[in-house]
Amino acid sequence: MPAFAPDGPPVFRFAPSPNGPLHRGHALSALLNAKLAERHHGRFLLRIEDIDAARSRPEHIAGIDEALAWLGLVWEKPVRLQSQHMDDYERALEVLKAKGVLYPCFCTRGTIAADWTDAEARGEKVMRDPDGAPLYMGRCRTLSEGAVADRLSQGEVPQWRLDTAKTLAMTGHLRWSAFDPLSCAIIMRDADPLRWGDPVIARKGMPTSYHLSVVVDDALQGVTHIVRGTDLEASTDIHVLLQTLLGLPLPLYWHHPLILDADGKKLAKSKGSVSLLTEREAGLDASTLHKFASALLHQ
Ligand code: GLU
Repeated sequence: MPAFAPDGPPVFRFAPSPNGPLHRGHALSALLNAKLAERHHGRFLLRIEDIDAARSRPEHIAGIDEALAWLGLVWEKPVRLQSQHMDDYERALEVLKAKGVLYPCFCTRGTIAADWTDAEARGEKVMRDPDGAPLYMGRCRTLSEGAVADRLSQGEVPQWRLDTAKTLAMTGHLRWSAFDPLSCAIIMRDADPLRWGDPVIARKGMPTSYHLSVVVDDALQGVTHIVRGTDLEASTDIHVLLQTLLGLPLPLYWHHPLILDADGKKLAKSKGSVSLLTEREAGLDASTLHKFASALLHQ
């Protein structure tokens, strides 16, 4: 059996966004991370992914602490809050800009949607990303340096997108490592970042986005094993690309099965899936969730 983490204790993390209460799906993720850390004498970290100031709420951070404590989990302190580390993301963003792999995008939601409508009217097929969202059609990818300078001097604030095709021409084909939590075997997976089009790497008025923060933090926190739901598996394509460009270590990944609702859809805060703390009030026992997670790990 291959060694789980040959270079020291493995480091796991649970990284929720505090934009709603945790549900059973989060509990499963947190429990799997904590149980694997325990099994392999590793570390278990909690990271709060609160770069979205408009949607993050202190009461949800307090709710995360309460729900994880109810599950009986213990995590290292201090907890990293992404909102307090914008300078780390800024530095990484500057590295990417200096490599020439990003371009400023001045499009509004309206211009982006109009490009889709026009393309469809011309009979062109609008491609969709793995989450089903239509892909940005690249209007700003070809802006001249002069046009960019004009718009910046007029005070327009861009978002920054990755020129994925250009980047891949620099890095070549990429692969990432999936680990099997039972056998510890490592399986190489092909990355296909082009299916995301040109993703936003820094949002308007911010030095980052989900993709950039997550890879910067995983590296800064020394995370060796990323355990998260299969709903995030496709984004690993972008993460391995950013890790390669930034010269960061490549963690191992296990994307665990999701808990589905009665309609066979994944649980989501945005759909108002019932929260863990509400389930606790209704009499759910934390041991039920432990048993479910342990069963996946054959414990
Ligand atoms: N913050 C992300 C979420 O709540 C998870 C990030 C990750 O595990 O990579 O969906």
